[in-house]
Parts: sequence; C-alpha cells; structure tokens
Amino acid sequence: MSHEGIRIVDAEQARREDSEHKSLPTGAVTPNKVRVKKTEGTGVEIDWKDGHHSSWTFAWLRNACPCATCHEEREKTGRPVGLAKPKEQTLLVMYEAPVRPIDVTSVGKYALKFKWSDGHESGIYSWDYLRRVCQCEACRPERASTS
Ligand SMILES: [Zn+2]
Ligand SMILES: [Zn+2]
Repeated sequence: MSHEGIRIVDAEQARREDSEHKSLPTGAVTPNKVRVKKTEGTGVEIDWKDGHHSSWTFAWLRNACPCATCHEEREKTGRPVGLAKPKEQTLLVMYEAPVRPIDVTSVGKYALKFKWSDGHESGIYSWDYLRRVCQCEACRPERASTS
C-alpha cells in the first residue's frame, strides 16, 4: 500500500510530476552547442554534453509548446506532443507557410523562448524539456513503450 494515495492529484498531473521527478544527469540536460537554424527555417539542433545529439523541426517544436495553454489543449484532445492538430494541419498544408520563429531568445542559462510567426510566444523550452522530447531513434522507442 502506498501512502501517496493521500495526495490529491489528478492522473494527468501525477503523470507529469512523475516524469519530471525522474531527473536526468547534468550532462544530458546541458547543451554543448545549440544551433537555431532561423535563417534556413529548418529547426533546432543541440549537441549535449554527454555526447547525445538532438534535432527538431520548428513545426514540431511549435506543436510541442510546453506552455500551460498548449499543454492543456494537448491533454484534452489527446494530441501527442509535437503533432499538429488534425484540422489545423489540413489548413496549414493548403493555405499557410509552416510556422517559424520570428525571434528566438535564451532564458537565463536553462531555456529557449520562441516568438512564433503565428503570434504565440508563451512557451519556455527548457533544456530538460527538450532533452526529454528528443526525437532521435534511440530516444523515441523508449517513450513509445511508456505510453
Ligand atoms: Zn503554447
Ligand atoms: Zn535522443
């Protein structure tokens, strides 16, 4: 029997806390080199101190926005982190250029902040968050098996 049942948290929050408490080694969440390919419009690449390499497209990052509003919206609709909303995807493909950052700034030493071409700018992408959503072959199967 676990005493944790006393804590009143909903399943979503519990799951979030659980993944946040599994802390990663410092080398895994410390970037050696960050390349934001704003001019090329391709995405972000990070070389981590532990030798790992991650990269994301801007569209993926926009859809993985960690702000409370986007997080709630994803939870409500069951949309996986990084995937576009189905209806929006159709519209985007047909009428709009892919979303891209107008401005990218660093937040202290721990995060990146994007100002997106669609006007959204409330997400703070911490190194920790980015490492957790690494899209490389090695990281993806690990996450898929937990869901
Ligand atoms: Zn957001
Ligand atoms: Zn990875």
